Amino acid sequence: MSDRIYNFSAGPAVLPEEVLKQTQKDLWNLAGSGVGLIEHSHRGKAFTKVIEEAEADCREIAGISSKYKVLFLQGGASLQFAMVPMNLLGKHATADYILTGTWSKKAVEEAKMFGNAHVAASSKPTNFDRIPAAGDIHYSARPAYVHFTSNNTIFGTQWKSEPDVPPGAPLICDASSDIFSRPIDVSKYALIYAGAQKNLGPSGAVLVIIRDDMLKSVRDDIPTMLRYSTHAENNSLYNTPNTFGIYVMGQSFKWIRQIGGLKAMAERNEAKAKIIYDCIDNSDFFKGTAQPDSRSLMNICFRAPSEALEEKFISEAKAAGFDGLKGHRSVGGMRASTYNALPPEACAKLVEFMKQFEMANR
Ligand SMILES: *Cc1c(COP(=O)(O)O)cnc(C)c1O
Repeated sequence: MSDRIYNFSAGPAVLPEEVLKQTQKDLWNLAGSGVGLIEHSHRGKAFTKVIEEAEADCREIAGISSKYKVLFLQGGASLQFAMVPMNLLGKHATADYILTGTWSKKAVEEAKMFGNAHVAASSKPTNFDRIPAAGDIHYSARPAYVHFTSNNTIFGTQWKSEPDVPPGAPLICDASSDIFSRPIDVSKYALIYAGAQKNLGPSGAVLVIIRDDMLKSVRDDIPTMLRYSTHAENNSLYNTPNTFGIYVMGQSFKWIRQIGGLKAMAERNEAKAKIIYDCIDNSDFFKGTAQPDSRSLMNICFRAPSEALEEKFISEAKAAGFDGLKGHRSVGGMRASTYNALPPEACAKLVEFMKQFEMANR
């Protein structure tokens, strides 16, 4: 450890030390080839092995059937906000969006450029402090698809399971900030996308898992690079892909497998988050901002009694070796992001610090 500190950043975020160390080695000389990872041709033997293994490991850990394509694309999750409706929403069709935070709002805005976007539920009236109850979701008559955000990075809320959707409606998920943090039943989804920089790798890279039948309805009057079918037909190698991003995602998949897969990952993440939520719940100094039944296991948002104390907390925490704890301005206060790679001891140490801070400032 030594020269590294506890990184609670919301993204780009902490990666497993094993992954970083292997990446350092392969960046210099990939698998004894004498050529560094990002110097290899994307069509050569060495990189072919990298991308094939990344796909195979991704399929294995998440149990992804052959009915789905696994794509490694660019432009982050934000480009997916546009690519989803651009490919899958006809001009006169309606897509349903569940509005649970800043990122889902951005996704809705993009959809409006290509067709109709119906907001089926929204937690905006309570500043996105909760996941809507099933009874509060009102779908349109025949949605082209239903889009939701599984974990709301900024507001610290998370769906416990997928929303029920009208029969036959394709379910689409922005899973950027909780991808592979717990088991996922991919067969419930038509499309899952995740920007890599929270749980998988470097920013700019995005993982897309898309069911084959969705590819049939992709519009062909859109740019080649923005069509899912282009990338599916070319195994993510239509153009020069982000070879570095694909490599690091592949290493993260291997690391997840080594931890014991998604079930073990979920147990680890639940235990980590519990340490911090317990501290908040046992304190009358700190206060969580999300409704307890909607709390995220990835982003823990909390406040102190005053903004001055919050500033003090963040700066003293930084001096004590905890980085990235400042909350997003739309919530204020603090946010501890506890993604897959954050070691459990980081949460325990943070709680020690929180208790000391409370004692000294109450
Ligand atoms: C970070 C994040 C995004 C944005 O990702 P970019 O890669 O910056 O486009 C989108 N959705 C969610 C849920 C996020 O956490």
